[in-house]
Amino acid sequence: MLQVKNLSFSFKKTPVLIGIDFTVKQGENVAIIGESGSGKSTLLNLIYGEFDLEQGEIFWNDHQILGPKYNLVVGYEFMKYVSQEFDLMPFITVEENIGKHLSNFFPEEKKARTTELLEVVELTELAKTKVKTLSGGQKQRVALARALAKQPEIILLDEPFSHIDNFQKQSLRRNVFKYLKDKNITCLVATHDKEDVLGYADRMIVLNNHKIAVNNSPEQLFLNPETPLIASFFGEFNIIDNTIVYAHQLKIVEQSNLKATVIENYFKGSYYLVEAYLNDDIVFFESKHKQALNKIINLEVCK
Ligand code: ADP
Ligand code: MG
Repeated sequence: MLQVKNLSFSFKKTPVLIGIDFTVKQGENVAIIGESGSGKSTLLNLIYGEFDLEQGEIFWNDHQILGPKYNLVVGYEFMKYVSQEFDLMPFITVEENIGKHLSNFFPEEKKARTTELLEVVELTELAKTKVKTLSGGQKQRVALARALAKQPEIILLDEPFSHIDNFQKQSLRRNVFKYLKDKNITCLVATHDKEDVLGYADRMIVLNNHKIAVNNSPEQLFLNPETPLIASFFGEFNIIDNTIVYAHQLKIVEQSNLKATVIENYFKGSYYLVEAYLNDDIVFFESKHKQALNKIINLEVCK
């Protein structure tokens, strides 16, 4: 179990994180969410032991994680970290990078593990290619596979799919998160992409104003988004009578008191996102059909 107890940290007197407290169980997948600059990467760095804490303690089971003041070499066998920069060896091949830290005393196991990981990150065909010739997304996949190679007990992923194109993102996510669950590897993933969270994360920790704003399951937060910050993570939303209403919760009806004037339609694939004036406010709702501009529409909140 990972325990983060009352952690505070500043960069040169500028506070980044204040009084952060949470635990993560073995095998759990926890997403760290927050706007850019909210301290997601800093938190992962602290858990990895890259910086000295200003206050608080971090434990992985009985093992206290200490910063560079106490350790000559940063990093632990049981923990791997895939940072936003990948830190690969450019002049050797993909498979050599992945197998870099695997023992040569067990050549068959090394080969089997490397083959398995090449499949997880969908790089089998590029196994013999030198890393320096790869694209950013391909390098990111090599970094993921290398971090998984020694089967850590816990892995820290910082925006792990940010460089990967949309064509491959979906299946890669499924492969990586399924692999982690199958091997019972604890995973902390910092992201601002809801696709990295929904369907995979057991819990979401939302950072805001240097603190944990909420720590709950995605289902609970989606059903009861306490703040606009949380609602915005799940999609378009409106505030009607001081209540958060998602765009998909506004339905067109025959007659109602909510009369809106259509301004614009945005094609979203299986629906249109319609922008409209409701009194003096802008609202968004979803509609199967394109709506005529300036048309007056009756809306109802269906939660
Ligand atoms: P996030 O990953 O959520 O985008 P970061 O953890 O990278 O946020 O950054 C949190 C805050 O700390 C930001 O205000 C950022 O400017 C600052 N910061 C990050 N790294 C450093 C650093 N090495 N030195 C000084 N300030 C930093
Ligand atoms: Mg970051």
